[in-house]
Amino acid sequence: MNHPITIFWYRRDLRTNDNTGLYHALKEQNNVLPIFIFDTSILHQLQDKKDARVSFIHQTLEQLKKEFQQQGSDLKVFHGDPIDIFSQLLQHYTILKVYTNHDYEGYGKKRDAAIKALLEKNQIPFNSFKDQVIFERREICKDDGLPYTIFTPYSKKWKSTLEASGYREYDTKPFFVNLYQQLPEKLIPLADIGFLPTSLPFPKPFAERSVLQNYTKERDFPAIRGTSHLGIHLRFGTISIRSLVQIALQVNETFLNELIWRDFYQMICDQFPHINEGLAFKKQYDFIQWRDNPADFEKWCAGKTGYPIVDAGMRELNETGFMHNRVRMIVASFLTKHLLIDWRLGEAYFAQKLLDFDFAANNGGWQWASSSGCDAAPYFRIFNPTLQTKRFDPELKYIRKWVPELETMDYPAPIVVHEFARKRCLEVYAAALKQ
Ligand code: FAD
Repeated sequence: MNHPITIFWYRRDLRTNDNTGLYHALKEQNNVLPIFIFDTSILHQLQDKKDARVSFIHQTLEQLKKEFQQQGSDLKVFHGDPIDIFSQLLQHYTILKVYTNHDYEGYGKKRDAAIKALLEKNQIPFNSFKDQVIFERREICKDDGLPYTIFTPYSKKWKSTLEASGYREYDTKPFFVNLYQQLPEKLIPLADIGFLPTSLPFPKPFAERSVLQNYTKERDFPAIRGTSHLGIHLRFGTISIRSLVQIALQVNETFLNELIWRDFYQMICDQFPHINEGLAFKKQYDFIQWRDNPADFEKWCAGKTGYPIVDAGMRELNETGFMHNRVRMIVASFLTKHLLIDWRLGEAYFAQKLLDFDFAANNGGWQWASSSGCDAAPYFRIFNPTLQTKRFDPELKYIRKWVPELETMDYPAPIVVHEFARKRCLEVYAAALKQ
C-alpha cells in the first residue's frame, strides 16, 4: 500500500528554487510528489512537430528529474488530458492535497476549475498560489477598487506598493526532505508525445549584467544584443520573476518597467476575460472592415513585403523563434495598418512561432499595435517603416543580416505604397469608430 501523498503540479513554473506552490507543499506536507502533464489539448494545437517550445519543456523536465532524483525522489511526467490523468492518480494513490501555482489565461482557469471540482468531490483540497507575477488580480487597483487599464498609473502604484508588500524569495531546499521517495523513472521520450527535437539553440537562463546595465540606451536597436532574451525563461518559469525583479531594482529601472508591463498584461488577461475569447479590448474596434488578403498575409509571414525592416523581422522570427521588441511593434503595425489584416491573424502567427509566446503579452502587444488595446497606440499613429529604420537601424546592420538580397533584383518591390496605405487605414479605422 502506498503512503498517502501530496501532489505538486508543475505548469509554467519549471524550477525547484523560489517556487511558491512547491515551497508551500514541501513546508506544510510530507511525501510531496511533483508531477507534470503534457496536456494533449495544448499539444494538439501545435502544427509543427518540431515545435521548439515542446523540446524546451522536455529538456527542462529532464533537468528537474535529475534534481529530484538526487533527493531520492522523482518528477512524474504524464501525457494526456489533465482530468483523465488526475482521475488515474486518484485510483493509484491516496492523495491528501494538491498544490499548484495560479494560471491567469482563459484555458488555464477553466482547466483548474475542473480539476478543483474533481478533487473536491473526493474531499481533496486544491491549493493554488501566486507565483509567476509580483502582483496579481486586483492587488494593484485604482482607488475605486477597479482594475487599471492605463500602464503609467498602474506602474507607479506597482512600484509604491512593492516595498510594503513583503514579497520575498521562497527557499525550497530546506524542505526537500519532505519529497516523496521513489525509484527513478525515465522521462517519456519526445517521440512518444508526437514531437521531434529542435535544432534551435535556446538562450542561456541568465543574461550578463552588462546587457542590463546598457539596457536603457541599447534596447531599441535590433542590430545590438541589447535585451535580455529571458522571455522563454519567464514563460516557462525556468527563472523566477522575484529574483529578476531583485536584479532589476539594483541594475536598471527601464528593465524593471518591462517586467511591470508583463504583470500589467497578466492582470488585464485575468480581469478582462473577453480578450481571452478573441475580442478587441475596446469593442468598437471589432467593427473594422479588415481586408484580410491571403496573398498579402503570406508575404508578410514569409518576410517578402518589400519593406526591409518588416521582412528582416519576419525572417528573424521564422528562423530563430525570436524577434526584437521594436521590430515586433513595426511588423504588427504594418500588418494591421498598412495591410489592414486582422490583428488576430498576426497574433496567431506569433503564437505559433515565438519561443517566448505568452498569451497575455502577445495579445497585449497585438492589441497595442492595432490600437484596439487597453493602453494602445492611438489609431492614427501609423509607424512609417522607413523612418523607423532610420532611427533604429540606421546602418542597415540588422536588415542586411536577415535580408541579404536587399540590394539585388531578387528583392521584391513594396507590397503597398506607404502614403496610400496610411490614408486607407485612417479612412477604414475612422469609419469603424464612428459606429
Ligand atoms: P527584454 O526587453 O529583455 O524584457 C524582459 C522581459 O520583460 C521579457 O522577456 C518579457 O517577459 C517582459 N516584457 C518586455 N516587454 C514586454 C511587453 N511589452 N509586454 C509584456 N512583457 C514584456 N512578450 C512575451 O513575453 N511573449 C509574447 O508572446 C509577446 N508577444 C508580443 C507581440 C507583439 C506584437 C509585441 C509588440 C510585443 C510582444 N511581446 C511579447 C513583448 C516583447 O516584445 C517581448 O517580451 C520581448 O521582445 C522579449 O525579448 P526579451 O526577453 O529580450 O525582452
